[in-house]
Amino acid sequence: MTSTLHPLTNADLHCHSTQSDGTLSPEALARRASDNGVELWALTDHDEVGGQQRALDAASRLGLPYLTGVEISVTFAGRVVHIVGLGFDHRDAGLIEGLRRTRGGREQRAREMAEDLARVGVRGAFEGALKYVGNPELISRTHFARFLVEAGHCTDVPEVFRRYLTEGRPGYVEHRWASLGDALRWIHAAGGIAVIAHPGRYGFTPTEEYALITEFIGHGGRGIEVVTGSHTADDIRRYTETALEFDLLASRGSDFHSPEESRCDLGRLDALSGRLRPVWQALAERVHWPAAVATP
Ligand code: AMP
Ligand code: MN
Ligand code: MN
Ligand code: MN
Repeated sequence: MTSTLHPLTNADLHCHSTQSDGTLSPEALARRASDNGVELWALTDHDEVGGQQRALDAASRLGLPYLTGVEISVTFAGRVVHIVGLGFDHRDAGLIEGLRRTRGGREQRAREMAEDLARVGVRGAFEGALKYVGNPELISRTHFARFLVEAGHCTDVPEVFRRYLTEGRPGYVEHRWASLGDALRWIHAAGGIAVIAHPGRYGFTPTEEYALITEFIGHGGRGIEVVTGSHTADDIRRYTETALEFDLLASRGSDFHSPEESRCDLGRLDALSGRLRPVWQALAERVHWPAAVATP
């Protein structure tokens, strides 16, 4: 049954669990999404689909329709761009292998980040960050940020990203992620739709942004996040027009990571403009409907 996927569905198609840099388990996120009135949910861990079955099962138990999700780190024009994949087969071998390769460099990068931090007097950062995630394949800047707060170098995570871990600051190590073409091929081969995540965050010039969008469309990309936790009201207006101009499907997601750190909670987002075509309308066939609400 697809008629419940109306444009105003409270869809939250972007968030993170302990399978990447979130602090809640897939089960706790499902519960929080349901409690917050989310009507269609996707968990989108960074470069990892290991939490998908748990999220899907938890959502099903709560009567919450679910779309599989992932957020893939891509190097584009020397910068990092995030691509969200939605509605794919999370058991697809090509996708799993591609993501495994993308994650592969994280441990080495983290060791280099820790060495660079040690040069400015921050000691024990690798072990300190690893404590927050356990698996070195999943270690991210967010885990370093938590460690820097815990060790008293900064008062909160936003301060960390102002003083450390970003280009030109201590602890920043450039990294080569997946290519745009590879990320889109993995998503498409697994039956999903690709979406440009939080376009307002990249600081691209109009020319660079045009290049990203046209290459993305050239590789078969179909969607763009318009309403996200990291967009201002101005960004939302701007990317509403971008979605219309390029005939892209519009997505909506909080990018929730943690009750303590995230400004935007699950499901607590502005609605998409009625002029847009929501990505979930193109994904109706890919939704995992809980048994209780399934219709013939
Ligand atoms: P990584 O994939 O290891 O480069 O880590 C990227 C993650 O760091 C993002 O997914 C965010 O969760 C987090 N991050 C990056 N920049 C910021 C920022 N300015 N404020 C808070 N978190 C950030
Ligand atoms: Mn993150
Ligand atoms: Mn992102
Ligand atoms: Mn994210």
